[in-house]
Amino acid sequence: MKILEVRDLTVYFYTYAGVVRAVEGVSFDLYKGETLVIVGETGSGKTVTTRAITRLIQPPGRIVSGSVIYRRDGEEVDLLKLPEEELRKIRGSEIAYVFQDPSSALDPLYTVGYQVGETVAAHRGGKIKQYFRDAVELLRKVLIPEPESRAKSYPHQLSGGMKQRSVIAMAISNRPRILIADEPTTAVDVTVQAQILHLFKQLKDELGMSIIFITHNMGLVAEFADRVLVMYGGKIVEEAPTEELFEKPMHPYTKGLLRAVVNPIQPQERLEPVPGTIPNLINPPPGCRFHPRCPYVIKGKCEREEPPLVGTRHKVACWLYT
Ligand code: SF4
Repeated sequence: MKILEVRDLTVYFYTYAGVVRAVEGVSFDLYKGETLVIVGETGSGKTVTTRAITRLIQPPGRIVSGSVIYRRDGEEVDLLKLPEEELRKIRGSEIAYVFQDPSSALDPLYTVGYQVGETVAAHRGGKIKQYFRDAVELLRKVLIPEPESRAKSYPHQLSGGMKQRSVIAMAISNRPRILIADEPTTAVDVTVQAQILHLFKQLKDELGMSIIFITHNMGLVAEFADRVLVMYGGKIVEEAPTEELFEKPMHPYTKGLLRAVVNPIQPQERLEPVPGTIPNLINPPPGCRFHPRCPYVIKGKCEREEPPLVGTRHKVACWLYT
């Protein structure tokens, strides 16, 4: 069942240097209980896309067009048109976020237990103190050892991994239907990364959530995703079920990303970075935005005409396939 339908989402940033076309014409669906991973280099539009879902775009950014249809209890709402007050009720409770840097999500002046209790109180009403037990249980759920005493700790007394788990506890405190996690494991070491991913899987099964997970790490994609969206230069260039993407990548950029990491499904002999640099989105390359970096460029076509995203289960935007 589709829970979210993003159509033609376009977000621009109006800077002194010019208009940054950060996300243009992005469309995708999210199904109940699935993990959708969005992958791409820095500046590909992953974060802006997911922030735009609940209109978390700050000036000079602006959602220029598109719709985000959210389905619940037999009704449909367009999150881009909903009055701010109603959207606020959905944001944080039904659609929750976990961002990259846990420190920025935690207030250094309050204990972790207080802050987790505060998110529960914000959506259920009442005094924060009465939710202390709930906060302890949530900290236990995200596998924080000795949650009773940790709940009384201040953020600076916790390791990076524990801070990120506390933020996850806040995010799941109201049993969200959609959890959006933006590079949640970047600030923690590899062992903690694995633990956090395992935790996401567990929570997804237990709470029946849908997850949108953003990363630039293809290794994490293989382990974690049901379906993958590959973004480049503010657009989706490929979309496929995970195994298919790893076994039969179509877009030259996806192939490049897979060559740049150890492909867990098809091991490579050596690792190569994708040559070239990401495009300037104030003045993006005409035609296919990847053409300046593409080893398969079709002269006279790719630099003039933009390829549409075509296909059903496995979609690709590349003139080699149309
Ligand atoms: Fe390369 Fe052309 Fe395909 Fe773009 S459309 S990825 S430039 S072959």
